[in-house]
Amino acid sequence: MKQLAPDVWAYTIEAEGFPTTSAVVLTPRVALVVDTLTGPAEVAPVAGFVASAAGERRVVVVNTHHHWDHVFGNAAFAGEDIVAQRGCPRLIQAELQGGDESLRLPPPEGVPLPNVTFGDRLTYSDAGGSVHLIHTPGHSEDSIVVFLTDSRLLLGGDTVEWPLPNFGQRDGRDDWVRTLRQLKQLPADLVVPAHGPAMGKQIIDANELYVTGVYEAVSAAKAAGAARGELDLPAERFLAAGVVVDDVYAAAHRDNLLWAWDEV
Ligand SMILES: [Zn+2]
Repeated sequence: MKQLAPDVWAYTIEAEGFPTTSAVVLTPRVALVVDTLTGPAEVAPVAGFVASAAGERRVVVVNTHHHWDHVFGNAAFAGEDIVAQRGCPRLIQAELQGGDESLRLPPPEGVPLPNVTFGDRLTYSDAGGSVHLIHTPGHSEDSIVVFLTDSRLLLGGDTVEWPLPNFGQRDGRDDWVRTLRQLKQLPADLVVPAHGPAMGKQIIDANELYVTGVYEAVSAAKAAGAARGELDLPAERFLAAGVVVDDVYAAAHRDNLLWAWDEV
């Protein structure tokens, strides 16, 4: 576990080439586990850390959204409350029944669904400050972020991602841009995406430029007669100078182009 702030730790694995992070937040009364990675075995080090560090605190699992690499380890926290946005349980069920992530088999332990849900915002407050779970649609309709007022730290889930985000909500562009502009208003010093390094708020601007830039460019290319599979729009065109895109993110970018093509 890597300590990011006095009360925040992170643990990162690699999932199909994507660095993927689970975080633990200790408030005076609650131990929050934010995302459970790709399975109980993969998240076991986090479960072990929480078991020893939580003390008298109540353990609460948070799923930032329904995608497999954020929820498939839920069974490692059997018996604890699992909190998510209202749309999340239905979307996990759809995923398990062969929906959008049908290539990934769930773990033999199963995937316990979130049992505590909310709409726009859920806040845990105590002497150490507040932890806000905030609905931030765009990457997926059920996406949330976790904002810690005391440490001025934002756990971004997949709402922000580095070096570029993955498109995952059909017709979600406007939601996403609205969300990113809203996130910029939060008094955060450190932003920790589920995929990518901890950094400052520049990741929010970078993602907004990428999302708006890709949709504009794909729309223009389509209007000019380009074919769906032949878009010549390299990722670097939508990123800050010097940002390196590896093979995994180059492939994610190509998927994003096709995703946008089907909407514009
Ligand atoms: Zn996701």
